[in-house]
Amino acid sequence: MKKVKEHAEAAADFIKDGPRTDWHDDTLWFVREKRDLAAHTLPEWEQLREWASQIKNHTLSNLDEYLKNFEINAQSNGVKIHWAANAAEHNKIVHKIIQDNNIQKIVKSKSMLTEECHLNEYLIQNGISVIDTDLGERIVQLRKEPPSHIVLPAIHLKKQDVSETFHRHLQTEKGNNDPQYLTEAARQHLRNHFVESELAITGVNFAVSETGGFVVCTNEGNADMGANTAKIHIACMGIEKIIPKAEHLSVFLRLLARSATGQPITTYSSHFNKPRPNQQMHIVIVDNGRSRQLGRADFRNSLKCIRCAACFNTCPVYRRSGGHSYHTAVAGPIGSILNPNLDMKANADLPFASTLCGSCSNVCPVKIDIHEQLWKWRQVIADEGYVTTSKKVGMQGMALVFANPKLYRILGSIGRKTMKLFPFLVNNKLNPWYKQRDMPEPPKESFRDWYKKQQK
Ligand code: SF4
Repeated sequence: MKKVKEHAEAAADFIKDGPRTDWHDDTLWFVREKRDLAAHTLPEWEQLREWASQIKNHTLSNLDEYLKNFEINAQSNGVKIHWAANAAEHNKIVHKIIQDNNIQKIVKSKSMLTEECHLNEYLIQNGISVIDTDLGERIVQLRKEPPSHIVLPAIHLKKQDVSETFHRHLQTEKGNNDPQYLTEAARQHLRNHFVESELAITGVNFAVSETGGFVVCTNEGNADMGANTAKIHIACMGIEKIIPKAEHLSVFLRLLARSATGQPITTYSSHFNKPRPNQQMHIVIVDNGRSRQLGRADFRNSLKCIRCAACFNTCPVYRRSGGHSYHTAVAGPIGSILNPNLDMKANADLPFASTLCGSCSNVCPVKIDIHEQLWKWRQVIADEGYVTTSKKVGMQGMALVFANPKLYRILGSIGRKTMKLFPFLVNNKLNPWYKQRDMPEPPKESFRDWYKKQQK
């Protein structure tokens, strides 16, 4: 099995291309600024965040009831509900629907849950191909790459990269980087797949318990095109996508698009309630570790996430390390909280991919205490023994020094002298901390000594 690089190692690869790193950083910061402008147009923004947080908290505390009601209401609308305990069950359910109906042509709009479950890979292994219809997702699919961002899947690519990809796979003119031309080429290419598709898979942004209906938000209308042309629609959702009432959509839809891209509303917010005549509609409701997270008191709030990616766009680490360095379907700050729950050992590096500056928590539309949960995960991961020996020994040494004032003073005094006289002892190639940083000038005296002098 291919070894997955840890975040720091993968990030080091990403930043080797300095101009691209700067461009990635600037592009996402531009999106963050658009989010700020959009948020500031609403005087009630903070009130909306508070409502969203409370609705989600309430829903998570009564999740079983809301899910059962959703199932009853959806079934009475003629929708077939399936329950999947994990990714494997989810994939098998989707596969069985495909087999039972002898389906050959499938289109799929963006769904991070299907990425999390590795549905495409599973179906390919079983001889079934799926066409991703979100433009960004289609670009990365043609390149055989995973998405690097949950809202902007191809944000790591420049138009020149897209042009090359389309030239290779869609036979567009070599070197034509015009976005209008490239988008039109993608449109024509996808249009054929929509027309021929027999089954459409979509995600779910919000599932309304009181109606049994659900809402899918896209900017390209590709979920609607797929769901309205195919004879079977499968919608895949995590258990946390439930909201109690349709009126709550007025809170979440206003927050989602503004937080994600700075738009007042997503271009298409499509409401699905029941199958069209002669159409089948299935909803696969997936747990895949979510109830375990719900049981972790410190981390249950992460299930409030509405996948807007505002925390990605503001995170200085995400912006300068790229989504692929997180080696998981959901990257960024929220991914670093969700993924250790799925596999603590494999994702033990992720909660450390943060400065803990708190910018993520500040922008989160549902008020998740993201940076605090990252800090708490670090403690859990250290207690479970998943940090490297060097980090563990280093932290233990630091704890010993900080807990012992006398030792702290002695070492401080030694440090000030040695750093001044022999800076290469700490500032050398073996110490990665100094690779991109300058050594600060060591102070002449400690604060304690200075303070004592002032008292005289
Ligand atoms: S954690 Fe908050 S900011 Fe991040 S994607 Fe989820 S809802 Fe958006």
